Amino acid sequence: MIHHRGTWVLITVLWGIQSFVFAQQEKASEYYNDSSCYDVKCYDLRISASPDSLYIKGSTSIVATVEKKTLTRFYIQLNDALTVDSVIINEHPCTFEHSGNWIKAITPQKIEVGKMLQATIHYHGNAVSSNVIGGLGIGTTGNSENGCKVFYTLSEPYAALDFFACKQWVTDKADSLKIYITTPKPYMAVANGLLRSVDEKPNNRRTFYWESHYPIAYYLIGFAVGEFKSYNYRFLSTKSGDSIRFENYHCFSDAEWPEYKNSIDKTVEIINYYESLIGVLYPFGREKYGHVVVPIGGGMENQTITFLQNFDFTLVAHELAHSWFGNYVTCSDWQNIWINEGFATYLSYLALEKFYPAEAPDWLNSCLELATRDSLASIYIPADKVFDPLRIFSYYNTYMKGAYFLHTLRYFTESDEIFFQVWQNFLQKYAYKNAGVEDFKRELEAKTGRSWSAFFNEWFYGKGYPVIHLSGNAKNNFLQLQGMVKASSSDNRYSPIPVPVRIQWQNGGDTLIRIVLSDTTSRHSFFFSSPVTAITVDPQHQLLAKFKISFAIDTTPLQSIRTFPNPFNDCFQVIFPTTDTSAVERKLWIYNMAGQQVYSLQTHQRLPQVCLAKLISGTYLLVAQKQEQWYVGRIMKR
Ligand SMILES: [Zn+2]
Repeated sequence: MIHHRGTWVLITVLWGIQSFVFAQQEKASEYYNDSSCYDVKCYDLRISASPDSLYIKGSTSIVATVEKKTLTRFYIQLNDALTVDSVIINEHPCTFEHSGNWIKAITPQKIEVGKMLQATIHYHGNAVSSNVIGGLGIGTTGNSENGCKVFYTLSEPYAALDFFACKQWVTDKADSLKIYITTPKPYMAVANGLLRSVDEKPNNRRTFYWESHYPIAYYLIGFAVGEFKSYNYRFLSTKSGDSIRFENYHCFSDAEWPEYKNSIDKTVEIINYYESLIGVLYPFGREKYGHVVVPIGGGMENQTITFLQNFDFTLVAHELAHSWFGNYVTCSDWQNIWINEGFATYLSYLALEKFYPAEAPDWLNSCLELATRDSLASIYIPADKVFDPLRIFSYYNTYMKGAYFLHTLRYFTESDEIFFQVWQNFLQKYAYKNAGVEDFKRELEAKTGRSWSAFFNEWFYGKGYPVIHLSGNAKNNFLQLQGMVKASSSDNRYSPIPVPVRIQWQNGGDTLIRIVLSDTTSRHSFFFSSPVTAITVDPQHQLLAKFKISFAIDTTPLQSIRTFPNPFNDCFQVIFPTTDTSAVERKLWIYNMAGQQVYSLQTHQRLPQVCLAKLISGTYLLVAQKQEQWYVGRIMKR
């Protein structure tokens, strides 16, 4: 899901009055794990709806198997705004109560563990949205002259109960889904899976029957009703060679259609790109991928049929990416939403980089800027925020930071091949099931053969981000770097970070080095064959961090320095040109002719003594510093 940030203001206002709805969700764990244990196999939804009002009338049938203990009470969720007409369990009407968005029915007979349960709930009423981040509603989509009125649903994370009786438990995926939507002509209904039939009904109405046989989480079930135009065709997956159905439902005018058509067609290229990048075929290829244009101020990845506002490239790419991360493998609970949103957001960046490379750097810069807005937040959703949709879907901390974390993880794995192989292994292992952050980490550890606990504890579960301090001082061919890493949050600290630094030379060349910075200051010195003119820290923007960088070129001329004896056998003395009896600090560095540092010394000796018996014979460069003055000289080892 993506929601435009402009809506947050409205959401904040609504939050106070809506929060009671989510208090009801807190009971789900207790009820589904203890009071009423069943495993949903199939949802069968039959709903009459039209874009002319929010009135709906219908039924939900659930086929489930009883788990854990004998079932005597059947609990399921439905918004109180809807009136329940009857609850029928295994063909027997039963007594029930409906309050706090929960239906609690007494089963006519006990149902033993392993036995089938079929429950049908009939209901009607004016639907009310309980979703603070946009929800079920009626709105106008398309442009203002040709826009059409649409009835649509939006369930993530806890609002499926606004239109059908459902078990809002993300790990209990239904194996199959049937949706029958009855609506007056000329409206049509669009939903998950395949359109199996359109039946004429009395009073100028039609029933659209959609069906899916892929496992589906409750919040990915949705439908939309409107006077849609359709744009459908099949395309070839270059990876599998099979054709995939592609369906689009919209209300665009003929004038605006050519532009939208191009954007829609681009989706096919992105599907092929994702298949080759991730190494996993589009997971719902036997049914379809599709879009329906609805006024939801962003997009929602309803399985096989994304609901979206427009066809902005990154929005299309993001929602499509959920087919793999979110729908194929679904987060194990809402604390683990990164499995959905972190990956979908990062994949949309990778698609941008592939198809519009000129726009990718700006996107990445903006992503980092937003990801580091909150210096105290973790990517992981804290346990006390799991019923707070605004935190779960925090644009800064879940989407931007979640995506940039993957970018940094890619850098730390030091191999794109390994990085994307882990994605593939993870997806294949948890195909059509649920998984959390730790499951992904386990695949990463299996592939790389080392622990990633510290990295995840610091960068993912830990609060904030690292602040990398680095100051550079160039003196002709000599460069000194001094730096450290601080954490933006006092609750966090970071293991040493290899920080890439690009060094540019006067001769036009450059080189990329990595210096390891920790939470204590370290100094690094280098000698190059050409004078240093500039440094760029993290030039490829690989680190989820803030930077405090300074760089100065010291133009005071180098003085030459003498050593005795020169050439030397084992030891020599360094003789600074100005006689100075005070015990100021003197620094010495010795480089081989390849520019590698072979020795360094900090001393207060007036005539520093250096012993290098093991050094191999040859010519070396001695660089020295005393107070603000720099010195250089050649030394020869016999
Ligand atoms: Zn999303």
